[in-house]
Amino acid sequence: MALASLAVPLILAGYAALCALSPFGPCRKCRGTGIRTARKTVKACRRCRGQRLRLRIGRRLLNTSRDIQRVGTRPHRPTIRP
Ligand SMILES: [Zn+2]
Repeated sequence: MALASLAVPLILAGYAALCALSPFGPCRKCRGTGIRTARKTVKACRRCRGQRLRLRIGRRLLNTSRDIQRVGTRPHRPTIRP
């Protein structure tokens, strides 16, 4: 029980570090190939648009929370009108 409660924060910390160091992971839809095959035609993967990479979910959360924090703490400058 004690070991399990210790493992969860460790895994979360590891995932957070992974998201900070390597924000992009392989696309799950095309498994990192960037192509989609359907009925003998080869097309670029729609999810990653052929980029083969996608932004990790943890990184997206980090970016969103950072954006919200920035918008919320930005000093309010009243517009000067002549
Ligand atoms: Zn893809």
